[in-house]
Formats: sequence, C-alpha cells, structure tokens
Amino acid sequence: MTIQELDVMERLRSLIRDVPDFPRPGIVFKDITLLLGDRAAFTAAVSALAQPYRDEGVDLVAGIESRGFILGGAVADRLGAGFALVRKEGRLPSTRISQAYSLEYGEAVVEMHADAIKPGERVLIVDDLLATGGTAAAAAALVDRLGGDIVGFAFLIELSALGGSAALGGRPYTALLPMKTDGGIA
Ligand code: AMP
Repeated sequence: MTIQELDVMERLRSLIRDVPDFPRPGIVFKDITLLLGDRAAFTAAVSALAQPYRDEGVDLVAGIESRGFILGGAVADRLGAGFALVRKEGRLPSTRISQAYSLEYGEAVVEMHADAIKPGERVLIVDDLLATGGTAAAAAALVDRLGGDIVGFAFLIELSALGGSAALGGRPYTALLPMKTDGGIA
C-alpha cells in the first residue's frame, strides 16, 4: 500500500464508531454511519472495496441486508454490475430460497429470490463486517444453490480475532479494515 492509501485507511478507521452493549450487553457494535455520511470517505471506501474485483468480470454484487445493501449497491455501480438482494427471512415478495445458519443463541435465515442469479453468473458478495462468517457463508450457500460463480467476498471491516474467514470456503476475500473487537488495530 502507498502512504496515501494508508492515510485513507486510517481516515476510514477513524470514522468507525464503537457502540458498547448494542444491540445486546457485551457486544461492541461497529457503527459505520459516520463513514457513510462523509462524502470523501464513502467514495474512498466504495473504490477500495471494488478495486480488487475490477478485472474479474463481476456480473452481480450480492449484498447482505442491510448495510451490505448500501455498500454493495455502490460497489455494483462502480463495477458496472447488477445487484442481488440477500435478505432476512420473510421480506422478499416472490419465489425465494432460504438458508439457515447458526448464531451464538439460536438460528437465523437469509433468503434470495430464486431468479436473482442465472447459472454461471459471476457474483461478488458484499457486507459491512465479517465477524464469525456465518452470515457470509449462508449468503454464499444461496449463491451456490442458484448456480452462481462466486468471485469473492468484500467487507469493510473484519473482526480478525473471530476467525470468520475460515467459514468462506477458501474463496478470495478482502477486508479493508482489520479490527479487534474492542476497535483497536488487529
Ligand atoms: P457474522 O455472521 O458473525 O460474520 O456477523 C456478520 C453480520 O452481523 C454482518 O451482517 C454484520 O453487519 C453484523 N455484525 C456482527 N457483529 C457486528 C458488530 N460487532 N458490529 C456491527 N455489525 C455486526
């Protein structure tokens, strides 16, 4: 990375706010709203998320609800790709497929429309944050089931100590800001 690129990453990092005990006691929530609200930072983040995949022939970005919609939609535009929605259970109106995955306490389900991806389309999966990797792995399972060809995963933040990249099946992934769960530099 160049000095300028390092400066940009530090600027992005400074706009991630730690919110302790949200949404539950013990969780340190990484709030990206200040970054989204800063036009230079938002543009830089979208550019950096898209950059590694510029020459990968991405047909579709699959963005994970809800912050993955914001970042993924902008990345799709930057790559000249379409956008496919990975939503929480019960929110998609048409024929859908579902994938359950484990949370610390219980289970969650993500869904895609059955016609969101055509077999062989090249798909980049985008979300704001990689923690345990369960959500991204479930999104990948949906893309696989629809016959998509997963080019990789792009995250703004990775909580590195949680080892979530191991859940991504050895596929390429990029994370702009590796962080400790307390917000320090990993
Ligand atoms: P995981 O499935 O454990 O990798 O969790 C990733 C998903 O949960 C992403 O969609 C994140 O938006 C959200 N998430 C998990 N932990 C946090 C956190 N500490 N701060 C903000 N979002 C989080």
